[in-house]
Amino acid sequence: MPHSEPYITDAASVSAELGVDPEVGLSAASAAERLAEHGPNELRAKKPVPLWRKILKQFQDPLVYLLFVAMAIALAAWWAEGGESVPVDTIVIGLIVLANAALGFSQESRAESAVAALASMTAATSTVLRDGRQAQVPSAELVPGDVLLLAEGDAVGADARLVTATSLTVQEASLTGESEASTKDPRTLEGTIALGDRANMVFKGTAVVQGVGTAVVTATGMDTEMGSIADMLDRTEQEESPLETEVARVSRLLGALVVAIALLVMGTLAVLYRVDSAEDLVDILLLGVSLAVAAVPEGLPAILSLVLAIGVQHLARRNAIMKNLHSVETLGAASVICSDKTGTLTRNEMTIQRVLTDAGEVKLSGVGYDPAAGGVESGSEAALELARDVVFGGAVANNAQLDADGIIGDPTEAAFLVAWPKLADERDPGALHRRAEVPFNSDRKMMSVLTDTHVFSKGAPDVLAQRCARLQTAAGPVEFSAEHRRKWAEVIEDLSAQGYRTLGVAGGDAAGDELVEDGLTFLGVVAIIDPPRTEAMAALQQAHDAGIRTLMITGDHPATAHKIATDLGLTKTDHALSGLELDQLDEEGFRAAVQEVDVYARVTPAHKLRIVDMLQEKGAVVAMTGDGVNDAPALKSADIGVAMGITGTEVTKEAATLILADDNYATIVAAVDRGRGIFDNIAKFLRYLLSSNMGEVITVFFGVVLATWLGLSQPGSEEVALPLLATQILWINLVTDSGPALAMGVDPADEDIMKRRPRDPKKPIIDRDMWKRVLFVGSIMGAATLLTIDIFLPGGFVEGHHTLDTARTAGFTALVFAQLFNAFNARSTFRSAFHRMFNNHWLWASVLLGIALQVAVVNLPVLQTAFGTTALSLEQWFVAIAMASTVLWAEELVKVVRRARRREA
Ligand code: ATP
Repeated sequence: MPHSEPYITDAASVSAELGVDPEVGLSAASAAERLAEHGPNELRAKKPVPLWRKILKQFQDPLVYLLFVAMAIALAAWWAEGGESVPVDTIVIGLIVLANAALGFSQESRAESAVAALASMTAATSTVLRDGRQAQVPSAELVPGDVLLLAEGDAVGADARLVTATSLTVQEASLTGESEASTKDPRTLEGTIALGDRANMVFKGTAVVQGVGTAVVTATGMDTEMGSIADMLDRTEQEESPLETEVARVSRLLGALVVAIALLVMGTLAVLYRVDSAEDLVDILLLGVSLAVAAVPEGLPAILSLVLAIGVQHLARRNAIMKNLHSVETLGAASVICSDKTGTLTRNEMTIQRVLTDAGEVKLSGVGYDPAAGGVESGSEAALELARDVVFGGAVANNAQLDADGIIGDPTEAAFLVAWPKLADERDPGALHRRAEVPFNSDRKMMSVLTDTHVFSKGAPDVLAQRCARLQTAAGPVEFSAEHRRKWAEVIEDLSAQGYRTLGVAGGDAAGDELVEDGLTFLGVVAIIDPPRTEAMAALQQAHDAGIRTLMITGDHPATAHKIATDLGLTKTDHALSGLELDQLDEEGFRAAVQEVDVYARVTPAHKLRIVDMLQEKGAVVAMTGDGVNDAPALKSADIGVAMGITGTEVTKEAATLILADDNYATIVAAVDRGRGIFDNIAKFLRYLLSSNMGEVITVFFGVVLATWLGLSQPGSEEVALPLLATQILWINLVTDSGPALAMGVDPADEDIMKRRPRDPKKPIIDRDMWKRVLFVGSIMGAATLLTIDIFLPGGFVEGHHTLDTARTAGFTALVFAQLFNAFNARSTFRSAFHRMFNNHWLWASVLLGIALQVAVVNLPVLQTAFGTTALSLEQWFVAIAMASTVLWAEELVKVVRRARRREA
């Protein structure tokens, strides 16, 4: 740490104090040592939650408190009755509480580790100089003394003192609130200066808007300026997602309802029977508590996070990296995808095929980045002469590099480096000394470089032409007349209409030290092919079938954009709207255009933002891609900001919710597909769990109210006869339900998932229809269970001759099986349960486990004592299972009607 403030100390002294040579950087060993000493470069306000707290958290739930109360009551009753043998109920409930906590804990840990894995995949990186070489390191590993190499679009990883800066401007709004980007300058300052004016410093959490620079890290982690703003840090708390809110609301609603029902049941029991022993009282109390516990879907949030976490892991394997779990909901609802063209819909493999000059055209052969794999195909000597200047100029105004493994940097620029040797030019563009650069960005659409003697510019030809006063001809430069301009505009239009990406190149003499981008000489134009991605076409069709509109929003020429969009089948309209045309529209015109036009070209990042806003105004859920630093606001504003993993800047990756590891449009569509599948699966397990709970509530409620009709208690009898025991209810709820629910969370997607329209994001997932189905299925379950009990008992609707224990065991078994059958129902609201019945192994595994557990609880003596069961004969099993299966048949019937109605509609 430097002794005095680094901004009033000169860069050399700061570096010396930090023990680093800014030309070489730290050694790997020294960096590792410093990392151990200073700790990771992270802003962490809160300590990580210790394990014991996470475990304890599993018990911090009103329902678990209820169960504790139940255990205490059972224990007290056992004590009052003389304390013989063991307090079975207390132990059983205790074990169930433990099992449930273990399940919850493991679900949460899995979800957490998935989130952590994602975080490491999306971790910010910084470019540093170490051991004299440029290296990419995770920003968390930056240490004081590290030499940062800053470039446009970088997220500044730590506080650092600038050593050099070229046209460096940094957006510091997150730190200073100043929305205008500040210009940086390494010169030493004097006196005490406010944070926003420390021009020779860059700060963690800010973003490089333009230019390049090097800086020595002076502070990391909590020692940075960002680290000192405490309230910023607490903002990391996640907002609740709509789905979470809905699930929480439903849980609360059910909770209140169920407590009322439980009280009613307990009251009814107390009125119907004379409660004269402690045992009776305990039975009733325990039943009430268990009913409340059973009916509240308390496991839902944990299962929800786990299912989202598993889904997000699958997405990551498919190159779609989500930054947080809950954006998956939004992803599934996407109705418009705004995609740029270059790299996303095209391959971003740029080859210069034609060079156009005033003296004619030169055609080059070869595709890809191998300069040896091509040469001049055709062109007159005069054209060749001028073409060399064009390509040479483009190779000088260039920041890409070619090496044995391929290219480093922008493919558009690399195309010039590949074309240059093909023209057998003796001059070496790399040998020139560069004095200054005005970098490219998608607002300016051009870049320039100042060498000792010349200025070279390249850029969108229509933009560049406006900067030119002269035109290069075989006879030397001539005035760039209106006639020339018209002719060139035609040439560019014509090339673009053929799908070529065009770049103009211009040059001029250096006038002093200033890089002036005006009064240049127009040298010519190159035509680059960038073939469409083969998979994009199929993906576009898939999106179309799924009711998702795709807009192409590109910085490229309108004709190029339109041609590529037409080739890909993205648009059927006859032209693309340019940024210039957009600017001429009023608010209403813009709004109307956005609903109709599919292709936008020569737009700036500001247009993107407006397009997103207009689409959202009409209720669209918008996914928007972006790669440059200026795209960040549009990405933030979109419902799903999509950043490019390969070519994207750190700033866009920070602003995005989805990062494409392969920069591919098809991956967005695949991600939406998956997002829809995950959302569907959430609906499936909600339907399953809610109807299971409903079945339990209906069984107990009507079992108590209709006890005499069912033969559960003889008229006038004073013995309390419960349809199910408290522990049995807990068993069903906590042991047999979770497996199928989780399995449904990973159910393979329905085959027509990408044939439906996008979901309305405002519509609740648990809608009226779901409630109706839950009630219906719950009623069938309750009826089947109670009838099973009735069949075995003397009296009631059907005459039987078995004991209450046998009847109850059969009813208990029927209810468990009804739920297992219902797992197959819940997979679709209209498709038969037999449709693709075997394609979810997890579901079968969980159902088989459920069956095994039920066989165990009915037959194992220990469990018989614990759960009040008794062995059933084969015939009795058969009756229970047959009764349970009615839930399947009833739903099948409903689905037949539904399918018929659907066909009619
Ligand atoms: P997309 O927006 O789909 O990614 P794009 O790459 O064409 O497409 P921009 O990067 O905004 O969009 O580029 C706009 C125009 O600027 C291009 O059509 C090209 O003429 C020109 N251009 C692109 N890259 C460079 C560069 N490195 N140097 C100079 N000009 C460039």
